[in-house]
Amino acid sequence: MEQQIIAPRPASPFGPWDVAIIGSGPAGLTSGIYTTRGAASTIVFAGEIWGGQLMLTTMVDNFPGFPEGVMGPDLMEKMKTQALRFGAEFVQKKAESINVSAQPFEIKVGTDIYKARSIIIATGAETVWLDVPGIQKLIGRGISSCAPCDAPFFKGKKVAVVGGGDSAMEEADVLTKYATEVIIIHRRDAFRASAAMQKKILDNPKVKVLWNTEVAEVVGETKLEKVVIKNNQTDTTSDLVVDGLFVAIGHKPGSEVFKDIIETDERGFIKVSDGSKTNVPGVFVSGDVHDHHYKQAITAAGYGCQAGMDALNYLQEH
Ligand code: NAP
Repeated sequence: MEQQIIAPRPASPFGPWDVAIIGSGPAGLTSGIYTTRGAASTIVFAGEIWGGQLMLTTMVDNFPGFPEGVMGPDLMEKMKTQALRFGAEFVQKKAESINVSAQPFEIKVGTDIYKARSIIIATGAETVWLDVPGIQKLIGRGISSCAPCDAPFFKGKKVAVVGGGDSAMEEADVLTKYATEVIIIHRRDAFRASAAMQKKILDNPKVKVLWNTEVAEVVGETKLEKVVIKNNQTDTTSDLVVDGLFVAIGHKPGSEVFKDIIETDERGFIKVSDGSKTNVPGVFVSGDVHDHHYKQAITAAGYGCQAGMDALNYLQEH
């Protein structure tokens, strides 16, 4: 591919850089494409495991521009190549803390201190998975946390959803468009989801609810074969044979590093206003670390674009 380096580089690898991007999923890398193309020197702290949640995904069928679908890791490679093509510096290390009292800002990475005039936080969010035997091995092999991404793979099949919040209702709702039966497994005898969402789901004849029920184990060698469930009132265990299990018990935003510096809501999602601004001027946010609603690769990329453009404006004004 033709190299088109546009962004300048500071004399020292430690900066000061115009933009430091923390995170290397679709949000961070899209920000990097925009800031480098805007001729801002850009460093991406990618984390030790770069690429975010899409690196754990198999086929992505809902990212525009890939009519045949694209493997999650391939999509991330392409985004990374695109950001590097315009001159982003990629550091495969974790940013451990930021100092926003200093000007330029400081980012601590191991024993090194990098300097940057602006920061884009794009550290994403992690799915909270069930802590039961078999889960990790079967993620992407029948176990998912994203019905809008994976529901079409379960056309004509029987699936289960774990959780009782709005996310579980939304997952179940999407799944009813494809699956023949959607079984919600919930540990209590009442959902915490909004009344409207509950009604919509409970009125759907395809949905069945197993109340007071927990997942004890998931079983399968190369793909999910069955879910072992336990009724926590009677202590009885039984097998539930399903083709898919969607886990919707919450997400954990990657905001720990910014604690007490960047404002978050009570669940740790970074508060955002006026585009991508945080409470600290010059520090912007994009992607799932603030978005607990859509949580899609394409929305993360869109937020990444927004933060990149906001950072460029900020640099121009300051
Ligand atoms: P949530 O509201 O915290 O619900 C999590 C659900 O998972 C709860 O029902 C909880 O059970 C269950 N759970 C937690 N840990 C579990 C475990 N280890 N084993 C089994 N079950 C477990 O999370 P969410 O549904 O992701 O929603 C997060 C926020 O986003 C909420 O404020 C929600 O309203 C909002 N949201 C809104 C929409 C919308 O408006 N369209 C869509 C999605 C999310 P318990 O009930 O027993 O605690």
